[in-house]
Amino acid sequence: MDTSQPGVSDFVLLSEITEESIVENIRKRLENDVVYTFIGNVVVSINPYKQLPIYSPEWATRYKGSNIYEHPPHIYSIAETAYRSLLTHARDQCVLITGESGAGKTEASKIFLGYVAGVVEGGEGVKERLVSANPCLEAFGNAKTARNDNSSRFGKYMDLEFDFRGLPVGGKITTYLLEKSRVVHQSSGERSFHIFYQLLSGGDDDLLSHLSLTRNTSNYAYLCHPAEDFNDAQTFTAIIQAMQEVGVKEETRRFWMEIVAAVLHLGNIRFEEEVLMTEGDEEKVGVEGSRVVGEEALSHVSRLLGITPESLSQVLTHRSVYDQAKKEKITVPLLPGQATKTRDAFAKLLYGRLFSHLVTTLNGCISPGSEAEQRGFSVIGVLDIYGFEVFQSNGFDQFLINYCNEKLQQLFIELTVKSEQEDYEKEGIEWTTIDFFNNETICELIESKNRGIISLLDEECTMPGTPTPLTFLQKLDSNVIKHPHYDSRAKQSRNRSNPALTGSAPQSSQLLPHNAFTLKHYAGDVMYEVDGFLDRNVDALWRDVVLCIAGSEKTGVREMFPEEGDAGVGVAGGKGQKRPDTLATQFKTSMSSLIQNLMSKNPHYIRCIKPNASKRPDVFDQELVRHQCRYLGLRENILVRRAGFCYRAPFTKFLARYKMLGPDRSTDPKGTWPNYRAGDVREGTLKVLQEAAVDESEYRLGKTKVFIRHPDTILRIEMLRNECK
Ligand code: ADP
Ligand code: MG
Repeated sequence: MDTSQPGVSDFVLLSEITEESIVENIRKRLENDVVYTFIGNVVVSINPYKQLPIYSPEWATRYKGSNIYEHPPHIYSIAETAYRSLLTHARDQCVLITGESGAGKTEASKIFLGYVAGVVEGGEGVKERLVSANPCLEAFGNAKTARNDNSSRFGKYMDLEFDFRGLPVGGKITTYLLEKSRVVHQSSGERSFHIFYQLLSGGDDDLLSHLSLTRNTSNYAYLCHPAEDFNDAQTFTAIIQAMQEVGVKEETRRFWMEIVAAVLHLGNIRFEEEVLMTEGDEEKVGVEGSRVVGEEALSHVSRLLGITPESLSQVLTHRSVYDQAKKEKITVPLLPGQATKTRDAFAKLLYGRLFSHLVTTLNGCISPGSEAEQRGFSVIGVLDIYGFEVFQSNGFDQFLINYCNEKLQQLFIELTVKSEQEDYEKEGIEWTTIDFFNNETICELIESKNRGIISLLDEECTMPGTPTPLTFLQKLDSNVIKHPHYDSRAKQSRNRSNPALTGSAPQSSQLLPHNAFTLKHYAGDVMYEVDGFLDRNVDALWRDVVLCIAGSEKTGVREMFPEEGDAGVGVAGGKGQKRPDTLATQFKTSMSSLIQNLMSKNPHYIRCIKPNASKRPDVFDQELVRHQCRYLGLRENILVRRAGFCYRAPFTKFLARYKMLGPDRSTDPKGTWPNYRAGDVREGTLKVLQEAAVDESEYRLGKTKVFIRHPDTILRIEMLRNECK
């Protein structure tokens, strides 16, 4: 274990384990530009907000082939361990990177990938493509927010695939829930996705004129605030280069830019009220509707998308509905406000499909050849997903994002704290149980099929009549009001009038607003405003828009809408059409398969912490750090780790690796040892430990596994093994 560093390099070495000592250790280390600390095999990382000279090829080489505790804690320690583990045990690995926005998750994932690309031998070309895929994704999926100048607005899981020799053969990216609403609106101080600004300042004149774009961002209604200089032009060049390196064809790149431009022009289409004359039952009657103003924008959009201006204008200002009485489809004109909503929904859909197209294309470029596909490969999956979010105002997106964090926290508990304790019990090792907060009940509250918030929301969305955000809230109140992690105005009033009912409800002095509910998450209380929950959940888009665009004369555009306007997309469908899954249900399903996927792999963790909320180097906000340590459960993690054993392995595995340390065959002429084939693996393990002179206090033998307390011990055994070879 390295002792030259400030503080302790593994939190288990702290003499006293309290929140204070944990925070203090982080502070001391950060002050000396040391950003990584272990808790056993977990790496805790604090964002320095400045470039440190610890990512050079020389640094990486030090970690190559090393044991996890030989060098100072680093993401490279985890990368090396994961890769070794993949090689020696042929088992799939995964790395879970968690932390709030701006804590350094995405940087950590890039450092991890950089290590694999730089240190792992072979797979030339493949590694470069894997690395270059990232900037392409970031251009379209990242944006400047109040918390992070390069905030990922989607969740990312990337499999790195290796053949049986450990050579990189390819990869696969899966993304989760892109924050599409950012396309049409940004809060003050925030920007839309990088690509819009990058294209406007970095695209060459020919390209811009082909797209009918001008360089000035303030000409585009969807770019709410003027852009700062962000090296956009330079980055654009770098992005194009990265796309070339990954292998994206010129024509595809051009197509993507056309869609980006179409979205910008779409935002400039406005509507004004118009009285339309339509055939009534007897005579012509005037019906209020709307008309497009800004013919120019309309014609740009239709040219770029390969549809006629007439059909585009028609679908933006009308919608077809199924008339139950007449049993036929009728067309209803939309008022300017409704037309604007349709336009925005269209823009979001278009951008969302563009992002999916990008991911599919990148995957096509980085997927392993068919030869590797046939032979099979093992993977290291890297998960970089949005952290817990609490804003001034929280909506549907925060609800899903925080739900995702609950699931990951549950997985963390499941795989580290809980499984560790259960393992000791099962193996019959003496053990004092450590209490930890189990968030299972919050996950249940959200996702239970039986009256969970998501299922209640879905039910409300399909209610006949006109469900509103408030009817949804009433439904929540009547179903989950008693849940200790749920709070609402109705619950507060109920508790006030009958204090006996209080239970564990928070007794805040201020009443919650009428349109909000609060969830007590593991990471803190979050108040969600229900406005928009219903709309967002069904992602309402009139079927007509999709039909119209699916009829585009451009193949690329049609490819983005493969369902060709089947019932899949609208809420206005008639009878007999299968309802598509709502957004929340889709998200729940994708979370559950993500968790299953991660559970099947050998996990490694990077827990990211941000030192301050102002994105500044050398500023340490004690309270902010303490809060993060608390909800990341670092203290419990350390306690379990310290009371426990750093290494465990089934006797058979242990012997397979270390049996040569057993008694010399010359002194054991009958060759009776190790007779583990006869099942005496426990005895064999004991002999190896004795021969290696491991102190009795350092190990425990369970029913099927050996446990070793300190990393130093296993390191020493490993060294003895090397000498024997
Ligand atoms: P997250 O993905 O958790 O939201 P990022 O990884 O995007 O956060 O990090 C936010 C910013 O913090 C980065 O753009 C970078 O400026 C800085 N940063 C993060 N990690 C490091 C690091 N290891 N070294 C230097 N700066 C970092
Ligand atoms: Mg990120």
